[in-house]
Amino acid sequence: MEALVLEKKDKLTLRDIDIKETLGPHDVRIGINTVGICGSDVHYYTHGAIGPFVVKEPMVLGHEASGTVVEVGAAVKTLKVGDRVCMEPGIPDPNSKATRLGIYNLDPAVVFWATPPIHGVLRPTVIHPANFTFKLPDNVSFAEGAMVEPLAVGMHAANKAKIKPGDVAVVVGAGPIGMVTALSALAGGCSQVIITDVQQPKLDLAATLGPIVPVNVKEQSLTEVVNKLTDGWGADIVFECSGNEKAAAAVFEALAPGGCVVYVGMPLAPIAYDVVAAQVKEARVEHVFRYAHVYPRALALMGSGKIDVKPLITDKFKFKDSIEAFDFAVEMPPTSVKAQIELPQ
Ligand SMILES: [Zn+2]
Repeated sequence: MEALVLEKKDKLTLRDIDIKETLGPHDVRIGINTVGICGSDVHYYTHGAIGPFVVKEPMVLGHEASGTVVEVGAAVKTLKVGDRVCMEPGIPDPNSKATRLGIYNLDPAVVFWATPPIHGVLRPTVIHPANFTFKLPDNVSFAEGAMVEPLAVGMHAANKAKIKPGDVAVVVGAGPIGMVTALSALAGGCSQVIITDVQQPKLDLAATLGPIVPVNVKEQSLTEVVNKLTDGWGADIVFECSGNEKAAAAVFEALAPGGCVVYVGMPLAPIAYDVVAAQVKEARVEHVFRYAHVYPRALALMGSGKIDVKPLITDKFKFKDSIEAFDFAVEMPPTSVKAQIELPQ
């Protein structure tokens, strides 16, 4: 089948590739409709590796996907041909200890699309377990369906924060993950979100998504803004979504006593943070790695209208222009959040 193949660092081709897949009794075959371009796809393209995951042989990119069920395995009861779906890209070993403990995202054996050596889904079809394939509500488009994957990260972060109604949250970084974390925090009960970045167009967009106060940290002090909005108390939750070394180390400044910090962004190198600053506030510190059990809730919130990801989908490309789409994503303008690729139907 024709696929977008990362041959090696810096080299993409749109070509035929032979992918051996068989439809098991609990699997479905999905005709891919839309695939979002993720920062990780771009990083494999430009660097050939993320941490221990190194591209050593040609790999199909893409893991943020939606499509239509075209074939179902003999034992599948929950889905039928024609269902519009989105897919959770990480498949754990169902019998692993992590899976049995309910933390399947941490299963060392997890197989995740477009993480070497596993092929992604920028291709016409894929076979996937029915259990990791979720029906889209009628009012949720394929484009929105392909946003569930990044949204799931924000949902998982909101879960980890244990939001109480009325909490005030800070989101550090207004990239795609910062944006979906802000939406998840509001849907989870936060009264308002203060979001930071250095790119004004991203902040301007964020401010249109709900009760979100943008702070350009080139011009304003986050701590000052938070103190003003909270009568000096601080934010109940700080979501660190920038991965920026300095920002990730300074998360306790704007935090309220007894507050919670959730590390979502991945710094490229180890960071140091001020333990005493965390201690004097008895900060609770959480970390997220991908997500678990949040697709149904994300889809329910999109279906009910509590979460609208449409404003985040800023750029669309045709499958035949996939390489152009990736080169665009490498040099993403500050006015863009999420670029998606549509496959021919
Ligand atoms: Zn992604």
